[in-house]
Order: sequence, then C-alpha cells, then structure tokens
Amino acid sequence: MFELIVAREIPADIVFENDRIIAFKDIAPKAPVHLLVVPKTAEYSNVAELAEGDPLLLAEIVTTAGDLAAEHSNGEYRLIFNSGATVGQTVFHVHAHVLSGSLDESSLGFQ
Ligand code: 5GP
Repeated sequence: MFELIVAREIPADIVFENDRIIAFKDIAPKAPVHLLVVPKTAEYSNVAELAEGDPLLLAEIVTTAGDLAAEHSNGEYRLIFNSGATVGQTVFHVHAHVLSGSLDESSLGFQ
C-alpha cells in the first residue's frame, strides 16, 4: 500500500524523495520523531529479501535514515525493520522505521 503514497493516491507528510526512495512521517508515531524510509519498488516484502535482491538500495535506505535523523532530530536514532506478522509487521512492503527523540528504554521495540 505504500505504492499509493509514492503515486500520491493517498496523502502523506513526505520528508524526502529521490528516484528510488521515499520517506514520510508515520501516521501513528511511537516516538517524537518517527519516519518511514521506503524503497519505491514494492518488489521486496522484508529486509532480508531486499538485502539479497538489491543490497545497494538497502545501504541507501540506511544512509538516508541517518541523514533524516540528523535533519529532524539530534542525529541519534533507532532503526527497525519488522519482518513478519508475529513481530508486528503490518505492511509487507519493506520499510525502515527511524525513531528518534526521547525513547522508552524499557524495550527495544516501539509498540
Ligand atoms: P510495520 O508494522 O509494518 O512495521 O509498520 C507499518 C507502519 O506504517 C506503522 O507504523 C503504521 O503506523 C504506518 N502506516 C500504515 N499506514 C500508513 C499510512 O497510510 N500513512 C502513513 N504515513 N503511515 C502508515
């Protein structure tokens, strides 16, 4: 469904875009800064598939996450790729969660 954001068929607060990546604010933020960094292609459903299929695109997502954490927060961030429904993945179009600001340190998760 993130293809619909790429196509501007549903609105999003987009913070970065290039030819291969789009990043926008999570609609239900779990931290003071909560961004999603997403490859435009819907070909990969999780990070392992992306690593195998296009490692340079994965590296670009990681680099973009760091750049956005510096731009929107203090440059420190937690990067999460949920992989599988039992750990909370709900959108099966690979995406990185970038969490920054004061995080609840009682858990590595964000829910
Ligand atoms: P997952 O649980 O799959 O790792 O993460 C999916 C994330 O996408 C959730 O944090 C959810 O809040 C966010 N999300 C789902 N639908 C939309 C939407 O239409 N717009 C935006 N901006 N975020 C969305």
